[in-house]
Amino acid sequence: MHHCHNYTKADENRKQERRQAKRRLYVASVISFIFMIAEIIGGHIAGSLAVMTDAAHVLVDLMSFLISIFSLWLSSKPPSKRLTYGWQRAEILGAFLSVIFIWLVTAVLTYLSILRLLHPDYKIEGTVMLITSGCAVIANIIKQFSPELKIADPICTFVFSIFVLATTLPILRDLLHVLMEGMPRGLSYDEVKGRILIMDKVESVHSLHVWSLTMSQMVLSAHIVTVANADKQNTLNEITELLFDTYSFHTVTLQIESKADQKPDCIFCQDPRD
Ligand SMILES: [Zn+2]
Ligand SMILES: [Zn+2]
Repeated sequence: MHHCHNYTKADENRKQERRQAKRRLYVASVISFIFMIAEIIGGHIAGSLAVMTDAAHVLVDLMSFLISIFSLWLSSKPPSKRLTYGWQRAEILGAFLSVIFIWLVTAVLTYLSILRLLHPDYKIEGTVMLITSGCAVIANIIKQFSPELKIADPICTFVFSIFVLATTLPILRDLLHVLMEGMPRGLSYDEVKGRILIMDKVESVHSLHVWSLTMSQMVLSAHIVTVANADKQNTLNEITELLFDTYSFHTVTLQIESKADQKPDCIFCQDPRD
């Protein structure tokens, strides 16, 4: 029997993946929480911004774990008549907010370290710092040799801040791409269109849209023009099966049209720019 939602096995695998992911996320969250608290206390006692900045970096990880757990729970909620896709996009919005939050924390710490560079009258407790963070250790050693080089600590903060920016920028780019309904990563417009076009009885394809609800849940819709003598229902079934077999789509929506109904100069039926 043919059915439009041809992915029961994929759905079963996804549930299994979810259970395993949840367990791993719980463990990772607990570890990074303990680590972060230790760094905040250690960094505070030592008066080291570098250690505090590293704690902010651990916070980045912790936040992303917690958001993943929350979104796994949210996205398992069934769709409603008001939210017909369910809560899937909450994952993207949550990740977006966490990146903004991390940038705010990093900006505050960078600002504080600039203040320290301008007014270098703070003091750093060497031993606590030694225990707490690797980069701060180097800063401490430098300080032992020449006490004027206390700037090593603010410099560490800058290095960490750049690291945080470098790791979150690609994430933000991917999130914005999903929010802009962009072509999912790893898929190409021409390739998907080409696959449909080589099918038997297919004359042309237009209004092809591929986007994603979350990073992994892709959606496709397209208008397909068949040749005059085509069995339209059969062609529809074949293309649906092909798309589900080749890619892992969340939903595929196809509209079959006759060649006679096409308007050659219609601007909505043209291919988008490269
Ligand atoms: Zn169905
Ligand atoms: Zn059309």
